[in-house]
Amino acid sequence: MSEDTSRREMPESEPAGIFSKDLLDACISCGFCLPACPTYALTGQEQSSPRGRITLMRLLETGDLAADDPTLAEEASLCLGCRACETVCPAGVQYGHLLEEWRDEQWSGLKRPWIVRPLLLVANRKWVLRLLGLVRRSARKRSGSSSSSSGTSDQPTLMLGCFERALFPSVSRNIAALDPNLTVDPDQGCCGALHAHNGDLDQGRDLARKLGEQLPGTIVTTSGGCAAHLADVIGRDRVVEASEWLLKQDTATAQNTAVARSTATEQRPLRVGLQDSCHLRNGLGVWREPRELLGRTATYVELPSAGSCCGAAGTYALVRKKESKAILAKKIAEIEAADLDLVIAVNPGCLRQLQTGLRKAKSRTKAVHIVDYQRGDYRRGDKA
Ligand code: SF4
Ligand code: SF4
Repeated sequence: MSEDTSRREMPESEPAGIFSKDLLDACISCGFCLPACPTYALTGQEQSSPRGRITLMRLLETGDLAADDPTLAEEASLCLGCRACETVCPAGVQYGHLLEEWRDEQWSGLKRPWIVRPLLLVANRKWVLRLLGLVRRSARKRSGSSSSSSGTSDQPTLMLGCFERALFPSVSRNIAALDPNLTVDPDQGCCGALHAHNGDLDQGRDLARKLGEQLPGTIVTTSGGCAAHLADVIGRDRVVEASEWLLKQDTATAQNTAVARSTATEQRPLRVGLQDSCHLRNGLGVWREPRELLGRTATYVELPSAGSCCGAAGTYALVRKKESKAILAKKIAEIEAADLDLVIAVNPGCLRQLQTGLRKAKSRTKAVHIVDYQRGDYRRGDKA
């Protein structure tokens, strides 16, 4: 709290030191980002748009808005962090980094939403993650040492997402089965994405660096959000997301071709749609790969808002339940209208969100992770 007080007492001409100057200065206030922003679509208010939020950040930085102004708290929380605004910005504004810096101040210490705090505590501790995940025998380390590595080897290693290993253990198991060359080290921690997006930027980067040192060579991840954060900290050349990886694996595609054929109804081939991971699509630019994979084995149906956030957005579904449900409701209506057999997710948070929405809607469509789909595990997997 003393940190905030010192910020408020600064002369107005002194920057508060919350934001990187070059990031904050990049915005030219053109407004091209407004139509791309889901929260602006929800409220219709400038302050809930990327441009409006950057204005708020600037006012906070100059001291023209008090750090405890309720509009700041509201908008830092209402933003999904989906980074859709970055893809249409002519000035190359790195909004995602700005939001991380904002929340690092806005959600520091006791100001962090209470519902987020236990999640960060769990993700901080490797032994808790191991207990949660009960990493399956089939996904255990297959070769070599699990000790720290120089990171220069070409050997691919699998990143076990911290909550994914608890909620969807089949994903790690299935990608390890699809690619026997993947090394799996069960004694790994969180990549820090959760921290970086929820007001603990230093810890988020530190965890990513440590994971990058522990896991050798190319790191394959089954979570779009983790992929983007990890790549941001340790370098894009070290990180490959699962759909990118699987696209290169002929065996995986061949295996699933048979599965897709066997599960399609006699009347028509399997109809499959996709929900992009925001950070994977908007941060890493990976969106063609999952579509190409799915198009190889099923009738691929592009949902009108496949590239827009589903409302999961990390902890958003916990922190902003009402808005998250409103965004999800539109998504579920689209899926129903498309008459899909499966909707595929490339991120565990999206998968959880879609499964919840489809179950409540009593939909016939199942939500499945792309790795489970490729392995053909969806037939006996979670129900929608
Ligand atoms: S964030 Fe980019 S698109 Fe939006 S107002 Fe600023 S410069 Fe324009
Ligand atoms: S990150 Fe998403 S919700 Fe937040 S300002 Fe950008 S487009 Fe809007």
